[in-house]
Amino acid sequence: MRKTDVIIVGYGPTAAVAANILGSLGWQVDVFERSAGVYFLPRAVHFDDEVMRLFQQLGIAEQVEPLTQPVLGMDLVNAAGTTLASYVATESVSSLGWKQGYMFHQPELEQTLRAAVSRFPNVRIHLEHEVLSVKSQAQGAVVQVRSQKGEKDIHAAMVLGCCGAHSITRDAVGGLPFDYGAHQPWIVVDVQLLRDTRLAPATVQYCDPARPSTSIPTPGSTRRFELMLMPGETADQMTSTERIAELLSPWLEPADYRVQRAAVYTFHALVAQRWRQQSLMIAGDAAHLMPPFLGQGLGSGARDVANLCWKIDLVLRGIAHESLLDTYQEEREPHVRALIESDMWLAGIIQSTDQEFARQRDAQMVADPAAATLVPPSPGLGGDLCGSGPADRRPFPQPLIKGKMHDEHLGNGFTLLGNIAPSAWACKVLQLLDTHIETTTCAEITQWMHDKGAIAVVVRPDRYVLATVADANALDIALAPLARHLCMPQI
Ligand SMILES: Cc1cc2nc3c(=O)[nH]c(=O)nc-3n(C[C@H](O)[C@H](O)[C@H](O)COP(=O)(O)OP(=O)(O)OC[C@H]3O[C@@H](n4cnc5c(N)ncnc54)[C@H](O)[C@@H]3O)c2cc1C
Repeated sequence: MRKTDVIIVGYGPTAAVAANILGSLGWQVDVFERSAGVYFLPRAVHFDDEVMRLFQQLGIAEQVEPLTQPVLGMDLVNAAGTTLASYVATESVSSLGWKQGYMFHQPELEQTLRAAVSRFPNVRIHLEHEVLSVKSQAQGAVVQVRSQKGEKDIHAAMVLGCCGAHSITRDAVGGLPFDYGAHQPWIVVDVQLLRDTRLAPATVQYCDPARPSTSIPTPGSTRRFELMLMPGETADQMTSTERIAELLSPWLEPADYRVQRAAVYTFHALVAQRWRQQSLMIAGDAAHLMPPFLGQGLGSGARDVANLCWKIDLVLRGIAHESLLDTYQEEREPHVRALIESDMWLAGIIQSTDQEFARQRDAQMVADPAAATLVPPSPGLGGDLCGSGPADRRPFPQPLIKGKMHDEHLGNGFTLLGNIAPSAWACKVLQLLDTHIETTTCAEITQWMHDKGAIAVVVRPDRYVLATVADANALDIALAPLARHLCMPQI
């Protein structure tokens, strides 16, 4: 039986990010994908600054950025055309060093991620290979794969299921998903605009009980429309050319556009109860599904594997115990749930088809100035691996220093920044983690630490703040939860 370090099931965007990270860390990775090419139908169009920063870390921001256009904002508008609430993106870069959000087309992004994977000869991609079963064993796991050449079993130290909504790996991990009870079909249409139109420059959510709908600017001369299906409407009826023309008629004449892609999706809100069982793990849509109103599904998958892959690396290198892998769900699930719950709140406003409810909602939102500003949620990580200071469990900032992005000073592992003399025990932990140490840092980070009452900060490989600390004793305390998972003597 052939053996490898990590098998990735599926080759969607979550898998492609994971393959890039694990490939760069030198692991033998085998990716099995049942389809021949990237999924062509319309899906994600938005990711945020944190995801762009991850692409920077993967060394592909220069390839990704030209495929995008910066997010301008989002308006919630009622049936009468009154703006109920807005989010306006800042023109400058965020504290993470990138624009607050980017619009893109998922197939183009997936192609770029796949092209980047080809840098790593240690990552083998097997297209048109369907995974038939995934089984955990005493040592590692076995995956049964079917291709045109027949069926074979492959053994891996770990299996990462990035196999989407109908995940075979999630079934193997076990436990029914938690269901928020939101299942709503929408038709999603991407169009190429053929002439000038008077479409709003930002995203508009039309909170019209007669037909909730969304109009989204996408890169170049393209546009995304999403329209909620009403009771009795079927996918077949709704995707005909005539029906699409009728649906888009409030905004466009047929001569204004050419349909690129159209599909009906049912949006769900689900979270798998278990994300790991022994050497099997799940990530992305396999672990959670969310409505698309905040545009965070793909980004959440990318965050999942950024969180998980450095832990897999430490375990496979024999530096950490497998218990470290349990911190993956502990940290990521509360983050994902916070986004899903914000999405559900937004869905409750946008998707209402009750005229009376909509009338009262509009009156309340117009009367309440606090409701007029939408603030994108920015939850922190759960669990107890990170400290509990105000900056801990959140992404470390990335200032621009003399035209150079600060992450370029960090390396790809752990970093300790600040003028601190670690205890002998902390030195051992930092050494085991191969920590990059910089005792002097730029004025911006020094000021940031000062504002947090800290003299030093430990940054994780996924660019999250493990802890900000005020002295060497606090550094010992901050490292202790992580050290408990490391193969070393404890304090
Ligand atoms: C209309 C719509 C709009 C969206 N908008 C946004 C947005 O703006 N921003 C955002 O961040 N997200 C958005 N999303 C969500 C985003 O598209 C998904 O979260 C993302 O595609 C999930 O990626 P994934 O790699 O986890 O899963 P998938 O993309 O589903 O990939 C899973 C892969 O696994 C393969 N596979 C499955 N089972 C097997 C098997 N047994 N053997 C081999 N291969 C297998 C599949 O063929 C597939 O290629 C949107 C989704 C929809 C539907």
